[in-house]
Amino acid sequence: MTCQSKMSDKLAPAIGIDLGTTYSCVAVWEDDHVEIITNDQGNLTTPSYVSFTEKGRLVGESAFNNAAMDPINTIYGVKRLIGRRFSDPNVKEDIKLWPFIVVAGAKNRPKIVVNYKGEKKNFLAEEISSMVLMKMKQIAETYLGCAVEDAVVTVPAYFNDSQRRATKDAGVIAGLNVKRIMDEPTAAALAYGFHKIKDYSKPQNVFVFDLGGGTFDVSLVNIYGGYFEVKATAGDTHLGGEDFDNRIFNYFVDEFKRKYKKDIRGNSRALRRLRSACERAKRSLSTTSMTTIHVDCLYEGIDFSSTLSRTRFDELNKDLFAKCIEFTDQCLKDAKVNKNDIDIVVLVGGSSRIPKVQQLLEEYFGDEKLHRNINQDEAVAYGAAILAAQLSGQANDMVNKVVLTDVTPLSLGVDITGDVMSIVVARNTSVPTKKVKNFTTIKDDQTSVTFNVYEGERFQASKNHFLGMFNVSGLSPAPRGVPSIDVCFEIDADGILNVSGTVRGSGQTSKLTITNEESWLRKEEIDKMIEEAEKYKAEDEKHKRKVDARRELDDYAYEMSKIMRNQELILPLIPEGEKQRIEDEICEVMNWLDLNKVPPVEASNSKLLGLKEICEPIVAKMKN
Ligand code: ADP
Ligand code: MG
Repeated sequence: MTCQSKMSDKLAPAIGIDLGTTYSCVAVWEDDHVEIITNDQGNLTTPSYVSFTEKGRLVGESAFNNAAMDPINTIYGVKRLIGRRFSDPNVKEDIKLWPFIVVAGAKNRPKIVVNYKGEKKNFLAEEISSMVLMKMKQIAETYLGCAVEDAVVTVPAYFNDSQRRATKDAGVIAGLNVKRIMDEPTAAALAYGFHKIKDYSKPQNVFVFDLGGGTFDVSLVNIYGGYFEVKATAGDTHLGGEDFDNRIFNYFVDEFKRKYKKDIRGNSRALRRLRSACERAKRSLSTTSMTTIHVDCLYEGIDFSSTLSRTRFDELNKDLFAKCIEFTDQCLKDAKVNKNDIDIVVLVGGSSRIPKVQQLLEEYFGDEKLHRNINQDEAVAYGAAILAAQLSGQANDMVNKVVLTDVTPLSLGVDITGDVMSIVVARNTSVPTKKVKNFTTIKDDQTSVTFNVYEGERFQASKNHFLGMFNVSGLSPAPRGVPSIDVCFEIDADGILNVSGTVRGSGQTSKLTITNEESWLRKEEIDKMIEEAEKYKAEDEKHKRKVDARRELDDYAYEMSKIMRNQELILPLIPEGEKQRIEDEICEVMNWLDLNKVPPVEASNSKLLGLKEICEPIVAKMKN
């Protein structure tokens, strides 16, 4: 094992986390290879779900399993919300589909409302994501046997500045030191390169096609001499498996309405159960051409059964699949690369398993280009773990040979007269970068100039995504067009932007620290959330201790009742009356367990002690 306990001076290894919309995955560099870490259920990916119950908080598999039982308090897909405003049309669309409640919080931030332990609670997307990150951190810690702090967290390449910042904040709230926010396609290309490329001296164009649960990213990554350079990215933060599920879902909701003249749309439990069945149907259609769906007692006592063919599924999603190819084409055009110059297409994300999607890609690129050997679910975390090892100096020479360069996913600029977007950093510029553009006044004797900063590709500035505003003042009165203001955009390796404006000659500088912009979290807010996260963690642990103690009692009572039922074994050892007394005792404990789902630890322990006192003598006799 490469790690040491935090108690010693040696560092625990840095981990790579693929924080997905629907599933997350964690990996670590260990003994010269990448280990994808399994969760407590033995799975390599963990649902990005958090469920709030009367008794406690569930994260991951247990939360996912609780979704149908308690859809209103089970939160998923927050990656679609993170770093966005409540008024964002995408947010409005998502809210319509979610069974849980999202309201407008202060400063136009979306707030998720849940009922937790009988109390109404509000959470920001950052907080929910931090709970998922904390779960991934714990999965790694259980495997490594020591505390983990450093991590590389991945985001879709198309994530804008605020989404990246919010993701980083989520990491901080989870108690992680986020060493880098890495683009998911870069991570996948790195995983591919690491696996396959023996000779880095030959340049390769890798096209990464990542179709996941909620986001779609395509990127052209050029690998040369150990350098991984993202040449272009395109994608949609709102296209993925859930959208395909929705198409099936709407199809069946309509069918139900036609057949039974009833609309299930108002019933969140029914919606959730039908949606899960649709997702399962979709997965099976990746390997079979026809599937059945069946939901017992879906609505008002009606059992719902139907069938779905792959052809119908493809038809329902035709426009969405076509969109994937449009984005692919767009990405290549941006990079000015012909599709024939692509050496390999790496498939990433669970939805890239859909046969129709693969068929369209084969038609577009040609059959032999698709690389299917890399595991679609693990590639991103794999690449993140390699970078994590490199950044923390724990990797070997092979890893250290690799150099990563990312690009800006969107153009960045300021508005000028006539609401025109004046681009300072063009889309697909390599980061980190620093660009300066010169501006002047539009009126005589103007003493200050206000700049609005936007990101996006629209010509009309206000149609782009507004990032913040800054004011450059202290200009000496002069005719219009004479003052000279340098606006500097600096983007760090995480893709996070800092803007400043300087009046030439005066040295007067004005900075836009985008962290202070309304929609982002302030340091005090983050600190408060860290405190809360610690509190929840402590509560979770308390809850877990109770559950563990109860389970121990439950297991023991169950084991003993099984033994007592074995007449042949027991009767020679104890008299009939004694047997009856023990059985009554076990029965009493089992009834108590039925009534007490989360009893205090002491209560479970004392029951266990009592039961052991009367049962252990028999166990001892059995052993003899
Ligand atoms: P993300 O990274 O966005 O969380 P993943 O890459 O883990 O997503 O992909 C999850 C999505 O992949 C889900 O929508 C899931 O239904 C879908 N998926 C998983 N396996 C299959 C399959 N065999 N066929 C079709 N879709 C699948
Ligand atoms: Mg993913």
